[in-house]
Amino acid sequence: MEIKKVCVLGAGLMGSGIAQVCAEAGYDVTLRDIEQRFIDGGMKAINKNLSRSVEKGNKTQEEMDAVLARIKPLLDLKEAAAGADVVVEVIIEVMSVKKKVFDELEEIVPDHCLFFSNTSGLSITEMAAITKRPEKFIGTHFFNPVPVMRLLEIIKGHDTSDETLKIALEWGKKIGKKTIIVNEAPAFAVNRLLCVMLNEAFFTLEEGVATPEDIDTGMVLGCNHPIGPLALSDLIGLDTLLHVIEGLHEELGDKYRPAPLLKKLVRAKRFGRKSGKGVYDYTK
Ligand code: NAD
Repeated sequence: MEIKKVCVLGAGLMGSGIAQVCAEAGYDVTLRDIEQRFIDGGMKAINKNLSRSVEKGNKTQEEMDAVLARIKPLLDLKEAAAGADVVVEVIIEVMSVKKKVFDELEEIVPDHCLFFSNTSGLSITEMAAITKRPEKFIGTHFFNPVPVMRLLEIIKGHDTSDETLKIALEWGKKIGKKTIIVNEAPAFAVNRLLCVMLNEAFFTLEEGVATPEDIDTGMVLGCNHPIGPLALSDLIGLDTLLHVIEGLHEELGDKYRPAPLLKKLVRAKRFGRKSGKGVYDYTK
């Protein structure tokens, strides 16, 4: 099967980036969210990214216009998903919400349509099982910021077919990503390792071991990480990070207990860069 039309559900941090890289690769893209302000936010982010590419000389204005013309922002789920060859689900990291959307999609999309989920760590098998096409369901886990980060982690659910895996790998290559294949496990491979470190950074901060700046500088200069763990958490979104760590805790036990400080910041709606404040203040 050849993918022509890609429907991206969720125009947030990740969905906007996925829509952009798909349109850059020549796919026709619909980008859907539940409120106009989220769609506008997503399109603004895409515009900003593409404009930067033009300023740097990596793209011409005509190329940028052509990419934008391939992305159709929509509020209506039926309109967005009708005729899609693949739906990429990029909505909030809550299993019940994701399942509800896949259930609604089943009546809208053609039989051949594949379901890709960008979940950071929820069970692909569990989501696939509520659909009539578990063999056409696969995890496609991107990294933030999507246009910049080269990795695409492909997660096989229990019933994912070899054909679906093959198509997902080809799609990943076409949108310029290096793919790795992972069997389903809580938080897959990369987040299993990464989130433990990020969570530990919050414990370290909470215990007064060092300031946020010194924790981040320590990991950047001492471990050669491109960004410190607390700044990275703010970039990921503390709400999203907490969802992933809670999932690990639930599945794998106390070793993965979320840091109370991380929970407190999320309760205070300090979600990181996207809300203006997280560990750091981005409003100044
Ligand atoms: P986000 O909060 O920036 O965006 C989520 C978007 O989904 C919001 O705009 C919201 O309005 C929308 N949404 C909610 N319910 C919806 C529905 N029923 N239909 C359509 N849209 C709906 O979150 P994000 O960071 O883009 O994360 C999205 C997904 O990607 C999550 O599963 C997350 O775990 C995963 N992910 C995030 C990162 C990261 O670094 N933030 C990295 C990899 C994967």
